[in-house]
Amino acid sequence: MYAQFVKHVSLPLYHWWHGSDLLRNIRKFEASQWLSQERLRTMQWERLSRLLEHAYENVPYYQEKFKEIGAEPRDIRSFEDFGKFPTLTKRILQERLADLTASNIPRGELVKGITSGSSGQPTSYIQEKASNRIRAAAGKRLTGIAGYDLGQRLFYLWRDSPFVIDGDQVRLASDVQASPSSAMASLKGALHARFGVENQTLRVDPTLMTEPEMGRVYERLRSFNPHVVISYVSTLYMFAQYLEANHLRGVAPRSVIVSSETLYPHQRELMERVFGCRVYNRYGLSETGIVAIECPLREGLHLNQEILHLEHVPDAFGYTQLVVTDLINRGMPLLRYETGDTGRLIEEPCRCGRGLCRIGDLSGRIIDQLPTQLGGHVNGQLFATFHWIDGVKQYQVVQEKIDAFTIRIVRTPSFAEGNLAPMFQTIRERFGRDTSIRVDYLESIPFTRGGKYKLVVSEVTRQEVPR
Ligand SMILES: [Zn+2]
Repeated sequence: MYAQFVKHVSLPLYHWWHGSDLLRNIRKFEASQWLSQERLRTMQWERLSRLLEHAYENVPYYQEKFKEIGAEPRDIRSFEDFGKFPTLTKRILQERLADLTASNIPRGELVKGITSGSSGQPTSYIQEKASNRIRAAAGKRLTGIAGYDLGQRLFYLWRDSPFVIDGDQVRLASDVQASPSSAMASLKGALHARFGVENQTLRVDPTLMTEPEMGRVYERLRSFNPHVVISYVSTLYMFAQYLEANHLRGVAPRSVIVSSETLYPHQRELMERVFGCRVYNRYGLSETGIVAIECPLREGLHLNQEILHLEHVPDAFGYTQLVVTDLINRGMPLLRYETGDTGRLIEEPCRCGRGLCRIGDLSGRIIDQLPTQLGGHVNGQLFATFHWIDGVKQYQVVQEKIDAFTIRIVRTPSFAEGNLAPMFQTIRERFGRDTSIRVDYLESIPFTRGGKYKLVVSEVTRQEVPR
């Protein structure tokens, strides 16, 4: 009942108060998802043509690329032509951020963000504020496909990015003092809470999932009684195992959405058994927001197609890599951006009737859970934090035994051994003071089969884990 009140009374009032067009935009996307694939392709093409013109006129990096291939936007007449445009990598994004930023958009209209780093290279990116509002609506529409309705209670077992943007610098959130909020901001915050928008969402950080911590998460989850639970695959799978082993019941969401990692059938099966509802796979990128989500038929993930163009491109390992183009962010156009994830684009219509094309055989990041001799597991995401150590170009953390780690490092000239101290300290705090740590210096970090870069590898078998 309360969810209905929030959906039909508080939320519209709140958005009206803020002059927000979110609800109107969500309704537009809810309608356009049923359009034919052909109509959706036409919509994408109109947006892409305008974006190419804009990039050619205003973005130095793309001016350079057009020149290199000896073309102008009008020479790109089809998606096939566009498929020959040079791809953009995370490395280029890191190195050429300023050149990728549009010169004609006022700075006040842009926001800077930072990726989680779990894919191996944390990257800054720029988004146009106006595009974020559209993206939020399109994302909410996709979440709706997986059973979420506006106004419902959402439980996030999710870690906020460990990084923040502080001026022009990227810093660890824990190193930056929170700035005192303005009177206006606190008034808005109070209204937000009062109108029942804020208290419909609960976030819990799952970085360190020890047994006592999982017990606390269970209690909070039970008393919050969410309609929808959103988490990482590995985290929620481990939590579901814990609930089952301890016969803990009373958690009955209507839908569970997992994200950020490859979802295996055995993981889905166990989570569905424990939570008693469907588990939906979601795929997203910090740079583009939610990319795709499963519908109740779960025969692939429906793409956020009105705002994203997706291609699958064969790579050197015989897989097809997903390459995405963000059609609405003029602040820093992402044209043919290599995601590093593999999958297959399905254009045949889905039996659910939605026109949005789908991604099949999605294989994303694999993030290990690392057992500790202190009890419980540490989520491998913890190690995404160390990308900002000076002199470290790339690294990989390998847990060889429960109390022995090897850190593989590719150095830059500014490297000094002392820079690794925070990394050593974090490992010993979480895994025990006597944990042995070896450092190997390499020229490059080997890729896994399938061409993935794995940030964290645990070689500890389950049998070795103390109960
Ligand atoms: Zn469908």
